[in-house]
Order: sequence, then C-alpha cells, then structure tokens
Amino acid sequence: EFSEISLKDIDRLASSSFPLCMRHLFDKLRENHHLKHGGRMQLGLFLKAVGLKLEDALAFWKSEFSQKVGAERFDKEYSYSIRHNYGKEGKRTDYTPYACHKIISSTPSVGDHHGCPYRHFSEENLRAALGKMGVGGRSLDDILDKVRSRHYQVACTLTFEAVHAASCDSGINHPNQYFEASQKILQ
Ligand code: SF4
Repeated sequence: EFSEISLKDIDRLASSSFPLCMRHLFDKLRENHHLKHGGRMQLGLFLKAVGLKLEDALAFWKSEFSQKVGAERFDKEYSYSIRHNYGKEGKRTDYTPYACHKIISSTPSVGDHHGCPYRHFSEENLRAALGKMGVGGRSLDDILDKVRSRHYQVACTLTFEAVHAASCDSGINHPNQYFEASQKILQ
C-alpha cells in the first residue's frame, strides 16, 4: 500500500512507474494543458488511488489547466469534478479507479487520450511510445505479437517486464497494480 505521494515526485513517478495508458495521459496533459472528460476521469482516479491528496490534485490540475483556460475558469468549471472524484461533492461517493478491462473497452474519439494504448493506438504510434519507454528488439516484437492477437493486458505485462527487467507473474489487470508492483521493485 502506498498511502501518499508528493506533487514534487509526480513527474519522476510518471516516467518510472506509470503504465503506458497513464503515462500517455500525463504527457498529453503536460503538453496541451488540457484533457477531455474521459482522460480527466481515467488519470484523475488513478492519481487518487496512487496517493495524490485532494489539495495536491487540485494544485496539479490547476497548474496545467490554468495555462489553457485561465485560473478562474478552472475554479468554475473543473475543480468541482476533481472534488467530486474524491467524494467531496454530490453524492459523496468515493469513486474507484478504472481497471484494465474498463479502459480497454472504452471508446475514445478523436482528440481523446484515454483508453489503453495497446488497444487504441496504431501500431506505428505504439512502437514510438514503447521506444520512448526504452523497449525495443525482441521485447518489442513480442509485445506487438500479443497486441495483434488482442492480448492487450499480456502486452502490458511484457512491457512491465521489459522496463523493470523483472517478472510479473500475476499479470497486469489494473493500472494501479502496475504502479504498485513497479514501486515495489524500484524502492
Ligand atoms: Fe493501462 Fe491496463 Fe492498458 Fe496496461 S493493459 S496500458 S495498465 S489499461
């Protein structure tokens, strides 16, 4: 269990321990200072479960969105849904982060960055994304084989194993499980 992470560690953790789906959302948020609803939900609930506290989550999203829409509009239009994800608004439900099967079966449209890259990226984009994670050669070929046979979570598990040079016998079935298994190895 990782009860808390600090905002100052978030970029380091994203590149060392986020699965590709979350790394992609994180990179796009940093690049565009914006994410559409599906991406905000997928990444936001993941970050909550990783241990980002509400105040840090608000600071994190605001630091990006205010560059695009301004701080005032962020406070008006976006902060509510972040507090909502943390159970602080509306029905006060404590929302749980999405598991792989839910992310894989989502249907991102043009301009959306949520979803599972193994399922939703073109082969060319997936190759490039895996290359950025340092995955190449035989590992890359094995991963792309699994993607072609639609074993997306197996492809993600193979990526985990290539990146960490360690086995993941349980297989990946949840982005937060990927994160926790990674931290266990790296810490
Ligand atoms: Fe994310 Fe799961 Fe896809 Fe891996 S298999 S990229 S953890 S949705």
